[in-house]
Amino acid sequence: MHSGTDHHIVGRFAPSPTGALHTGSLAAAVGSYLMAKQGGGRWLLRLDDLDAPRQVPGMADDIMRTLESFGLLWDGEVACQSRHLSEYRHFFEVLQRAGVIFPCGCSRKEIAQSASAPHLDDDCIAYPGTCRGRMKAGLAVRSWRVMVPEEEICFSDLRRGLICQRLPALSGDFVLRRGDGEFAYQLAVVVDDYLGGVNQVVRGDDLLASTPRQIYLQRLLGFSQPAYCHLPLVTDPDGAKLSKRDHLVSHRLGNVAGREQALLLAVLRFLGLNPPPELDGYSCSAILAWGVIHFNPLGLPARSGVVGF
Ligand code: GLU
Repeated sequence: MHSGTDHHIVGRFAPSPTGALHTGSLAAAVGSYLMAKQGGGRWLLRLDDLDAPRQVPGMADDIMRTLESFGLLWDGEVACQSRHLSEYRHFFEVLQRAGVIFPCGCSRKEIAQSASAPHLDDDCIAYPGTCRGRMKAGLAVRSWRVMVPEEEICFSDLRRGLICQRLPALSGDFVLRRGDGEFAYQLAVVVDDYLGGVNQVVRGDDLLASTPRQIYLQRLLGFSQPAYCHLPLVTDPDGAKLSKRDHLVSHRLGNVAGREQALLLAVLRFLGLNPPPELDGYSCSAILAWGVIHFNPLGLPARSGVVGF
């Protein structure tokens, strides 16, 4: 557990406005909020709106209103990936000059999906290095990839402990930019966190597998590495991943209107806390204030589970 006040902690919540928040994303928002605030830090909101075709009109606004209705008030301006394109270009060129990027003519589903964060059910087949040496003549550039090293990349996750990965086996040389110029999530998120001064990344376990790729890019670009804590995933009672249509906590749909406090308490219990029953009658901000005092990353459950609400 963090103690004292450290104004240098900067955490963030980075939803993609491709759909409304559900109890799983709410748990990530609450977990990242509690951890940043516990250290006396700032909690930023960033809209990961790089994947333009998948944006749902009105969702960014809905996400913000939903967060507000749970008392989750972010610090400063809302950041948007779509406003960081020149920075992505700059850092992409830095890597190009360093000689670690190569053009690739291979056609893969992964290239199409690269603008979005890869979640658990997205297949990830390690790139076999086909164009690494030289792209076959006559092929169009479909993507730009970064060469990955043989060595293991290790980091210490606050909940999961030491995690080590060999990138050649997991992803191979991964996509940083598509042939049409669009930047990939893995590059964008590293640049975004750097631009925001983020030094504490708290997010769902389904992004754990992306972290070593992001750490590798941070090392190449000379950025410092944030602290990581990957939260358990919220599932259905039968253990299945939440479907996009169910468990929505959307402001617009009003699914939980008037029951925000009860859901917030359920999320705190999911995050390993034991809020006293008296908290029930209090406002969301009072419940969050209690959570900030009592949250302990070491008390987070080891397994995914339900938000009993
Ligand atoms: N925008 C990403 C998502 O919706 C999360 C990015 C991150 O937390 O690093 O899954």
